[in-house]
Amino acid sequence: MGSSYLDLLEKGELERRVEEGYNLLGSCRVCPRSCGVDRLRDEKGFCRSGFLPMVASYTLHYGEEPPLSGIRGSGTIFFSNCNMRCVYCQNYPISQLGAGRIVGLEDLSKMMLSLQERGAHNINLVTPSHFVPQILAALLLGARAGLRLPLVYNTSGYDGLDSLRLLEGVCDMYLADFRYFDSHMALKYSATENYPQVARVAIEEMYRQVGYLILSPEGIAQRGLIVRHLILPNDIAGTSKVLHSLLSEISPELYLSVMSQYFPAYNAFDYPELSRRISWDEHQAALGIIDQIGISNGWIQEVEAEVK
Ligand code: SF4
Repeated sequence: MGSSYLDLLEKGELERRVEEGYNLLGSCRVCPRSCGVDRLRDEKGFCRSGFLPMVASYTLHYGEEPPLSGIRGSGTIFFSNCNMRCVYCQNYPISQLGAGRIVGLEDLSKMMLSLQERGAHNINLVTPSHFVPQILAALLLGARAGLRLPLVYNTSGYDGLDSLRLLEGVCDMYLADFRYFDSHMALKYSATENYPQVARVAIEEMYRQVGYLILSPEGIAQRGLIVRHLILPNDIAGTSKVLHSLLSEISPELYLSVMSQYFPAYNAFDYPELSRRISWDEHQAALGIIDQIGISNGWIQEVEAEVK
């Protein structure tokens, strides 16, 4: 099956999207922070990223949601740096400490092609929000050289509409976090303003573009949106409200992935309320919510709780 971006390539539209993406970089408004730095001249804003992309690793990944990993693995590219600052980030060496290396656009396209050669079901772009124009430029090179795998945009949900619109018809799948219901929590624990409002608009846009998840007869994702939610201790994420609002405001058919494997990492021990796994009671409460709202489409990771 051909990916949507091949149509755009044929019409010359993919090239136009790259140009539009570069326009966002000049006075950077690639993401909602709108730092205004000139990334074409390698200036860096909140995400600490200049013009060229930074990649920590690229590999076949078997631990994503089952429709993405399938049997041959998801072709995952982990981008360095992030436009959020989660104090508990479980990937903090990559997202916050800058592990990884700067790569050329051609190198990035070769990573995509190599993952395709190794049999990946898709190209899974992890933490891509601050590199959308560069991803488009690398995709253009890759598509001209024979790339045909569908793209998965795997994001924390703090995405700008301008960038997302450039991805219409480019990404067949979105895997988006919805982390917090309460904007005060997002500010306190992720240094991110208006997170719930921004993420909701972003997720609506993603759903408008690709709709609910469509699987092949073998159960492999072909197109659509998955929303992920990580349960945090002391209901910091507002799990019940997040799940209710997603199903009522986006779609009751939305595919949800509820994750319970939180463990304290990075600076979480500076916050007593975040310095433990979820408790047995929280585990039971999460299962109760899931039962109550009756998620019809989705995947719930086995809840691991700290039994007290
Ligand atoms: S992508 Fe980076 S520099 Fe650009 S607006 Fe976002 S945080 Fe700022």
